[in-house]
Amino acid sequence: MMQSEVKVKDLIPIPDLVSMRRILCVQPHPDDAEIGAGATVARLIRSGSEVVYLTVTDGGAGTEDASLAPAELVRIRRHEGEEAARLLGVEQMIWLDFPDGGCLELSAVREKIIEAVRRVRPDMLMVIDPWLPYEAHSDHRNTGLAAAEAVLLSGFPHVCPQHLKEGLTPHAPQGVAFYGSSRPNTFIDVTATWPLKLEAIAKHKSQFNPESLEMLTAYLTAKAREHAAGKGFELAEAFKVLSPIHLHFFEDAWQS
Ligand SMILES: [Zn+2]
Repeated sequence: MMQSEVKVKDLIPIPDLVSMRRILCVQPHPDDAEIGAGATVARLIRSGSEVVYLTVTDGGAGTEDASLAPAELVRIRRHEGEEAARLLGVEQMIWLDFPDGGCLELSAVREKIIEAVRRVRPDMLMVIDPWLPYEAHSDHRNTGLAAAEAVLLSGFPHVCPQHLKEGLTPHAPQGVAFYGSSRPNTFIDVTATWPLKLEAIAKHKSQFNPESLEMLTAYLTAKAREHAAGKGFELAEAFKVLSPIHLHFFEDAWQS
C-alpha cells in the first residue's frame, strides 16, 4: 500500500473555473476586474458562459486631481467601466455604489453580495484575493473578504433572512476564483483574448496616463508570460480557486 503518496491538500478537489457557466465577477473599483481577470472573462464569454459584473465602490476617490469633483469622477468611471466590460462581452453590471476610499463596512458589503448571489445564482464568484500579502488598500481586502464570506454563507437560509421575504432563495456557489493572488493554483490560457484585456484596461482613461498605462501593460504581459511558462501556451491569467470547503476551518487551503 502506497498510502503516503496521497497528499492531504489534494483530498478536496479544486473546482474547474473554465467549466463554470455563470460567474459573478466582483471588483472593488471599476478597472480591477479587467486588470486581474479581463482576459479570462472574455474567454469564458466567448465559450458561452455568462459573466455578471458587480462593482462595490463608486470609484469617486480615484484621482490626485483636487479640482475634479467626486461626483463627476463617479460619472466618468461608471462610463469607463461600462465600456470596458462591454468590450469583454459582459452584458449585465451591478453597481453597489459604496463610497470609494477605504471606509467600507465589511458586513454591509457582504449582505449586498449575498443578495446578488441569490439573485444572479452564479456557479462561481470571481474576486480580488483579500489575502494578498502587503495589500494596503482596505477596499480590496474588504471586498475580497466579503465575497469569500458570501460564497460560504449564501446557501444558508437563516443568513440575511430578509432576502427570503423579497422572494429570493438561498444559493450556494461551487467556489471562488481569486484574481490578483500570490498563491495561484489555476492558470488559464488567455493568449487569444489578451489584446482585448489590454484594450479594456485602456478604456479607464481617468486612471492612467500614457506612461502609467505602458508600465502596467508591460508588467501584466511579463507576468502573464511567467504564469504560462512551461505550460505549452504563451500567456496566462492566474487564479487561486477554492471550494466552500476550503474557505472554512481548512488548514491546507493556503497550499491547495
Ligand atoms: Zn481597486
